[in-house]
This record gives sequence, structure tokens and C-alpha cells, in this order.
Amino acid sequence: MAIEIVEGDITAQQVDVIVNAANSSLLGGGGVDGAIHRRGGPEILAECRKLRAGHYSRGLRVGQAVATTAGRLPARWVVHTVGPVWSATEDRSSLLADCHRNSLRVAASLGASTVAFPAISTGIYRWPLESAAEIALSTVTEELASDTSVTLVRFVLFGQAAYDIFRSRLP
Ligand code: ADP
Repeated sequence: MAIEIVEGDITAQQVDVIVNAANSSLLGGGGVDGAIHRRGGPEILAECRKLRAGHYSRGLRVGQAVATTAGRLPARWVVHTVGPVWSATEDRSSLLADCHRNSLRVAASLGASTVAFPAISTGIYRWPLESAAEIALSTVTEELASDTSVTLVRFVLFGQAAYDIFRSRLP
């Protein structure tokens, strides 16, 4: 098992699972979500709509994760998870940890071995990168030590600053 930190675009990753920093609607948004739907094509959104028409009629709850096809992306599946919005007055760390844990569990349920994560919640949801890196890395480390099919987790960061922060917090 291994954790890698790279700088780049998550939609270009050749892995089994690309994790999407989605929103509760599952119907697309900005940032990573926008890039995944743009590059992955309409098949992903079509599956998201089906999820909304079925079990997820009220959307995906913060911290939960669900898989769809990866469409035209060089991956087998996209696992959509909803990060918490940063709050200075309320500690939502456990929800950010849930995103990572549940995404890996969904990936493992599919038999995936390689998974790429963006820095969930650190864009539009304003979570400070230092804190997000600590929560993401410790949760993934813990989950990789459990009984899982996942052997490689790659964090794909946008820009040198985010890359350096994740790098410096790798245990
Ligand atoms: P959230 O709504 O969970 O905050 P965002 O998609 O707005 O999610 O941002 C999450 C992080 O992903 C931010 O640090 C942002 O800079 C980064 N990001 C945006 N686009 C990409 C991409 N194509 N590949 C990797 N990281 C990206």
C-alpha cells in the first residue's frame, strides 16, 4: 500500500477510481466537479440523474460517497463525495474524514486498487489546506491499514502551494 502526492489535473489520472468533490445535488458544479463532467462527458451526469431519481432522491449527504461510470475519463469509476463547507465556529473535521473513508470503502466494494483524490473541500468550500491535508492523510493512512483492495492512493493537487502542503504532512 502507498500514498502518492502529485501536482496536476485529477481528470488526467489513469487509476481505477477518481474521487469527485461533488455537491449534494450530484448534478454538477464548479472546480473538480465541473472538470470531471466536462472531460468525462454526459454519461456521468446521466448516471447521477438516475441516482437522484432512485435511492438518492434527496441528494447525497455530506460525508457520504457513491459511484458512477467514469465516462470518457481514463478511469473505471468516479466516486462522488460531498465535502463539508468550512466553518470557523463548528468543527466539521469528522465529516471531512468520512468523505475519505467512505470514498475508499465504495472503491473497495468495486474491487478498485488505485484511487485518486483531489483536496476535498479546499476550493469553493474554503477549508484551509493545512488542516484538510492532515485530515485527508491520516484518514487514508488508517483506511489503507485495514482490510481493503485499495493499494495506492494518489492525492492530485492543483498548484505548487497545495502540493507542498500535502507533501509536508505525509507521515
Ligand atoms: P470543494 O467544493 O469541495 O471545495 P472544489 O472543486 O472547489 O471542491 O476544490 C477542491 C480542490 O481541488 C481545490 O483545492 C481546487 O484548487 C482543486 N481543483 C480544482 N480543479 C482541479 C482539477 N482539475 N484537478 C485537481 N484539483 C483541482
